[in-house]
Amino acid sequence: MSEAPREEDLFLRIIAGEVPADVVHSDDVVVAFRDIAPKAATHVLVVPRTRYPDVTALAAASPQTLAHVVAVAQRIADAECGGQFRLVFNTGAAVGQTVFHVHAHVLGGEGLSFTDL
Ligand code: 5GP
Repeated sequence: MSEAPREEDLFLRIIAGEVPADVVHSDDVVVAFRDIAPKAATHVLVVPRTRYPDVTALAAASPQTLAHVVAVAQRIADAECGGQFRLVFNTGAAVGQTVFHVHAHVLGGEGLSFTDL
């Protein structure tokens, strides 16, 4: 876990309620909210409350939290897009990671096809 101060971590500020977000799920382990710039009809970010910089660090430190992220993604997809979804973890700036607090993009519904990859 990194010790970055809260003001440098946008997602910690959203989790703390300091920055507004459209929260769709919250529990002791994760918070899930809609992406501000959605790439599909459903585009939700599932964010562990504890900060790890990326999914590799999360998997090494807390595989049970990673499993919970996947379970919450499934729950969101069940509610919004027929249970089918794409799960994306951008890992590194070169592939588009912009927020270095691990988050799963849950994408589904209209406008998303396999050929987008
Ligand atoms: P990354 O590029 O790091 O994988 O994903 C970061 C995501 O956070 C982007 O899809 C971006 O649209 C989203 N994002 C950036 N700032 C905000 C914000 O203030 N609120 C919300 N809800 N999403 C944000």
